[in-house]
Amino acid sequence: MRIKSYSVFRLFFVLLVVPYLVFGWGYQTHRVINYYSIKNLPTEMEKIKIYADYLSLHSSDPDNWRIFIPDEQFRHYINLDDFASWPFDKLQKKYENFVERHTAEEVENTGLLPWAVVEYLDLMTVNMKKNRWPEAFVCAYVIGHYIGDAHQPFHTTKNHDGQFTGNFGIHKRYEIELTDSRIKEIKVEKAPNVKYISKPVDFVFEILIKSYSNIEQILDADTKYRKYLGKEPEKYYKLLWEDTKGITLQQINSAIYALSCLWYTAWVNAGRPEIPEIKEDRLLPAIENENVWRQLR
Ligand SMILES: [Zn+2]
Repeated sequence: MRIKSYSVFRLFFVLLVVPYLVFGWGYQTHRVINYYSIKNLPTEMEKIKIYADYLSLHSSDPDNWRIFIPDEQFRHYINLDDFASWPFDKLQKKYENFVERHTAEEVENTGLLPWAVVEYLDLMTVNMKKNRWPEAFVCAYVIGHYIGDAHQPFHTTKNHDGQFTGNFGIHKRYEIELTDSRIKEIKVEKAPNVKYISKPVDFVFEILIKSYSNIEQILDADTKYRKYLGKEPEKYYKLLWEDTKGITLQQINSAIYALSCLWYTAWVNAGRPEIPEIKEDRLLPAIENENVWRQLR
């Protein structure tokens, strides 16, 4: 599946008119998700452990790609509530149908996250089949990034910064000031055995809907404690963490497990190839322009 590319002009237009840019979890949280996912993989994939540092070091790279890749910013979120309402049983999950029914602007503004995951899942498989391992590892860390973002509840809603509920600024407060700075408190639980994902789009939508279900609790906590933000920010974050730590731990552990399952799925789809031990200098450095990015395809 290849997500359609819209014009660079439109990208700049959106960058200008959308006052708020969606980022994602902070660097530390993405790093933890990519790093620990490796630990869940079956012994046949054991050699991927050699690349643990590489896969976690680059876990936030796709956030930087928005500067030079048209449409990249849309891959990091989806506003489930733009076209459907809870419990989202009428969501249009097939990308082709979704694109057919909406204008290009609607598709972009709503976000492309679930289809972006599947796009890179397929690319990872193709690259493994072609023995292009450095490219396959880039796809692996990109899937990790998007799956991480899918577990950040504010990446699933048009109220992504609390702007419609009087919680303005909650996005960054929750993911960076709160979660990223408390990453050492995140206890990584033992995950169940990885499973093969036969319907990856449905799998990602399930994750997104679950993520969405946590928004209210975080907003409620913010509403309760935001009076401390001005003069006693430490008190605000302490109380916010008390009320949301459970959700956050659950989301990060779920991200770790989901990512293991998707990496496993890409590998099975590639015919369970032996993972080679390639030299560190053969791994691709951070991608810094569109031409290099296109070479993943
Ligand atoms: Zn992101």
